Amino acid sequence: MLQIDIEACIGCGVCESTCTFGAIKVEGGVAVVGETCTLCGSCVDVCEVGALSIEREEKAIQGNLADWSGVWVYAECRHGRLAPVATELLGAGRKLAEKRGVSLSAVLLGSQIDGMAEELIAYGADKVFVVDDPALASFTDDAYGNALSALAKKHKPEIILAGATAIGRSFIPRVATTLATGLTADCTDLAIRDEDGALLQTRPAFGGNIMATIVCPHTRPQISTVRPLVMKPLIRDAARKGEIIAVNLDPATLKPRIKVLESVVEDLDRVNLSEADIVVAGGRGLENEKGFAMIRELADVLGGAVAASRAAVDSGWIPYPHQVGQTGKTVAPKIYIACGISGAIQHLVGMQSADTIIAINRDADAPIFDVATYGIVGDVFEIVPKLIEKFKERKN
Ligand code: FAD
Repeated sequence: MLQIDIEACIGCGVCESTCTFGAIKVEGGVAVVGETCTLCGSCVDVCEVGALSIEREEKAIQGNLADWSGVWVYAECRHGRLAPVATELLGAGRKLAEKRGVSLSAVLLGSQIDGMAEELIAYGADKVFVVDDPALASFTDDAYGNALSALAKKHKPEIILAGATAIGRSFIPRVATTLATGLTADCTDLAIRDEDGALLQTRPAFGGNIMATIVCPHTRPQISTVRPLVMKPLIRDAARKGEIIAVNLDPATLKPRIKVLESVVEDLDRVNLSEADIVVAGGRGLENEKGFAMIRELADVLGGAVAASRAAVDSGWIPYPHQVGQTGKTVAPKIYIACGISGAIQHLVGMQSADTIIAINRDADAPIFDVATYGIVGDVFEIVPKLIEKFKERKN
């Protein structure tokens, strides 16, 4: 809670004007704190006479923060394969571990996951904790969350990184809550602060208009999720040596309350948007599902995948897994063809690292042209059929 030393307080009012929550008032010459205080600490920072302080209760689970050491990466695997984000996070984790002078570990949860631990070592892990248990054959929030939380309570890593994928976004908040610590979702940059070794977690905020750097100063571990394709994996080194630690967890820990009856791989997963070299994306300019049938034909002839803006997804023309952008997927293909997409910032954050961007839009001032390598000003319904025809001719 916020403590006010009334002997020291001079009633200057600087704290009152600093508090954005209106939680502190000067009454009778001294500061008085109200119920809206969020313990953000901004008043403590500006009080020149040191009259304000925050007393924090240490959560029993945390103990001494210095006891938490090491960088962990949750190594996601799906359909018997390591998710590419696992190796990307090992690349980022390696830098953080070296800066902190600690080891880098990966945590592998699943069933029949032989061979993956060696792969994680080849991509930079010093240690791999493996929980290979039939109870983890299908992903469930509670079994995976309990397993990672139990390992973290025992081994006390200082940092845990996970992919901001459907799986990571689903169970990592549960891990943070169980461990009574903070979580920064969707980070785009991670670094270690020189002064105190804190993890600096940077992510877009306010619709992508500013970048916020977040720290977790009072609890451990510091947990971040990172979007796929943001970090770079290390070059695979099959000669790297590391330690593989097989862990048996108490069956009660792994007992999910959810029973998975069947797992179906959707047809749209056949072409993984995040891994496609060519992506053809459509927006509101396509007008309806028929517009999407047209760009699907273009994607097929190019051997690419189909993506969409949120406007198109919200209109029901294509399902959500195809959405690219801030609240969809991040893609970095060799070629991204944007058809009838205006280029809102929330869309651009998901595709602007494509090598070549080709934009087709009838509005010459559309912001998509600011990031496009090649721009075609015109009607998608005239241009796309011509492209399909030309690419078909070249193929034959
Ligand atoms: P519009 O902005 O309506 O643009 C349509 C474009 O098509 C126009 O430029 C028009 O000139 C062009 N056009 C129309 N007809 C034709 C034609 N016949 N031929 C050629 N061009 C034509 N958006 C995302 O995409 N992904 C996200 O993840 C996402 N997340 C968001 C998160 C938040 C918190 C918020 C607030 C918004 C988010 N958005 C996201 C929405 C985003 O702000 C835009 O509203 C959206 O990207 C617009 O989609 P659009 O470009 O398809 O549609």
